[in-house]
Amino acid sequence: MNRKAFLKTSSIAFTGLMIAPQFSCTQEKKETGLLSQNNRTNWAKNYTYKAKELFEPKNPEEVSSLIKDLEGSKALGSKHCFNDIADDPVAQISTHHLNKVIAIDPEKMTITVEAGARYGDFSKELYEKGFALHNLASLPHITVAGACATATHGSGVKNGNLATGVMALELIKPDGEIVSMDRSHPDFNAVVVGLGAFGIITKMTLAIQPAFDVQQDVFLDLPLESVRNNFNEIMSSGYSVSLFTNWMNDNVSEVWVKRRTDEEVKDLGSEFYGAKAAEINVHPILELDAQNCTEQLGVPGPWYDRLPHFKMGFLPSAGEELQAEFFVPREKAVDAIMEIEKLKDEIYPLLMITEIRTICGDEFWMSPCYQQDSVAIHFTWKQMTPEVMAVLPKIEAAIAPFNGVPHWGKLFTISREKLMERYPKFNDFVALAKQYDPQGKFINDYLKWNIY
Ligand SMILES: Cc1cc2nc3c(=O)[nH]c(=O)nc-3n(C[C@H](O)[C@H](O)[C@H](O)COP(=O)(O)OP(=O)(O)OC[C@H]3O[C@@H](n4cnc5c(N)ncnc54)[C@H](O)[C@@H]3O)c2cc1C
Repeated sequence: MNRKAFLKTSSIAFTGLMIAPQFSCTQEKKETGLLSQNNRTNWAKNYTYKAKELFEPKNPEEVSSLIKDLEGSKALGSKHCFNDIADDPVAQISTHHLNKVIAIDPEKMTITVEAGARYGDFSKELYEKGFALHNLASLPHITVAGACATATHGSGVKNGNLATGVMALELIKPDGEIVSMDRSHPDFNAVVVGLGAFGIITKMTLAIQPAFDVQQDVFLDLPLESVRNNFNEIMSSGYSVSLFTNWMNDNVSEVWVKRRTDEEVKDLGSEFYGAKAAEINVHPILELDAQNCTEQLGVPGPWYDRLPHFKMGFLPSAGEELQAEFFVPREKAVDAIMEIEKLKDEIYPLLMITEIRTICGDEFWMSPCYQQDSVAIHFTWKQMTPEVMAVLPKIEAAIAPFNGVPHWGKLFTISREKLMERYPKFNDFVALAKQYDPQGKFINDYLKWNIY
């Protein structure tokens, strides 16, 4: 079965199922850490995991003995990917219970957390102690290790993706050996954005900085012509800037400008490159209720409650959706946007919203921003899997001249051969992953199709 057919089948299989209570299990299974079997889905419910067993170990030692004993396994974070990257034919090892803050070190300016901690679990505590992370994604609901494994990002012309904040980590290798590594380790840049191929990360140490506040202003109806003529100025107008569009009406429906209050904050006025200041809080999808969204209208607030678009404790995005995202070099962004715009009549009927963000280049071998300042063009789709899978190759063809690469955690159809051409360290990554995992204990279908 080809990949397109596979994703289609997963979705159809799901819609025909009544989802069983997620962790229905016997006491005996609970005691051995085996929680449940089939009928478990990812967050968006577009993918049903095939792993026969799900374990939820309580500490790294339990993770280590599970990995040693199992024929194969894959780490499972908060399940926010839209494809089979976190699945395994044998077993998934959830990091659900590995969610504690281990230490905040004000001298080294780091926080060490267990790998299954979600950003939203510890950001408030960090702020209250006077510290901040450099950035967050659109939502704080995702685990640190799961987010870094797929190079999850926010926005900002001076901000790298979330993995660029990682200073050190602890990894359990397929043979159960526990390895600690920091930025000086030769394998660090492969393992952090590791697509789950090296083993299971149990701890991550992240860089912190003094706490800061952010104010968020939203502008409506930015003419596409302004984007074409002033892209860099617009994207540089705040610490983190996002453009939202449905590609119709020659405009960007919303511009979200997030500015640090400790940097120079000029009044942006009521007009912004032809867009008008919003007078009420809005959702990126204008029709949806803004109560799930972080506060706007220029009201300053903690970094953790402004850098994401969605509040912890509330549903992020739309829920019943699919996502895809493609990265192009920043200097080619306007050309790539205009190429995609030509497909607007095919995109629009399937789309909820597109978001455009900037990310700085980094050194992670499998980061879509490897050594390249980039722009990410994201699509939140209606859950119409066959139609979406049919339009993706057209978008991928439109960005091919710019060497566009996909978000590892979202939907795509770009072939392994093309990915290999577009990632200079692709073969080094595969060779190193095989060295760490000679028996292929962490190889799943996703890695077989796309990487190995
Ligand atoms: C509503 C929504 C909004 C989103 N917004 C953004 C956004 O703003 N920016 C963005 O870039 N992405 C975004 N995403 C995509 C998503 O956040 C990422 O793809 C991320 O990887 C999900 O993290 P997770 O904890 O759910 O990981 P999972 O989906 O559970 O796992 C992802 C991968 O990480 C591996 N993994 C997990 N934990 C470990 C571990 N401890 N050790 C080793 N490997 C591990 C898994 O094996 C798997 O390969 C969004 C997704 C949703 C649903």
